[in-house]
Order: sequence, then C-alpha cells, then structure tokens
Amino acid sequence: MLIPCFACESRFHPDEYFRACHDYHRGKDLVAWTCPRCGNQDELRVLPGELGFGYPRCGRFDICDRVRVPGLRRQRQDLRLDISLDKEIWRVSTRRRLVGARRPY
Ligand SMILES: [Zn+2]
Repeated sequence: MLIPCFACESRFHPDEYFRACHDYHRGKDLVAWTCPRCGNQDELRVLPGELGFGYPRCGRFDICDRVRVPGLRRQRQDLRLDISLDKEIWRVSTRRRLVGARRPY
C-alpha cells in the first residue's frame, strides 16, 4: 500500500506519508501535508478507509480524487486528529494561533 504525491508522483509508505502531515484544521476537517520529496503542500481529508483530495469551493471542500487506504481510521480530538492504521497511530496537531502572551494551556 503506497500513497502518491500528486505533484511529483513519488509514492510513500503510510508511515512516511502520515508523518509528513501537519496542521489539522478542525473547522474544515482537513490536514495539511508537505511532500518530503518535492516540498509540494496539499490539503486532504482523512476518511475511514480512504484519503480525499480536492479543492476548496464556495466555502466547502470538493473531493475529486480518493486514494483507498484499507483499514484507515480517524478520530477527532480537541486539538488534533488521530490517524490510525493497523497498530500505528499518527497525531496531527491543530495549528495554534496564540493570542497575546497567553499560552493555550
Ligand atoms: Zn511530491
């Protein structure tokens, strides 16, 4: 099971791919991903059993490409998204916007 980068067409094992995910946007339900090979940044939605790729349009995210990842699961947490596959888990944190000097915790 390999997951492609749509820009450079490199293919990644799930561990390498999901470690390159960063910044979970809870409102849009999207994670940002930066390709370790070419540096292309993409946004994707993690869905049960698949990844959805697409474009923001009219305030929503239209999925036009899906990559099946059998066994993929997701769980939304307060400030992160947990992505799990088999016995592995990757945690993608929400980007925090600090207001003033106050730490969020
Ligand atoms: Zn790439």
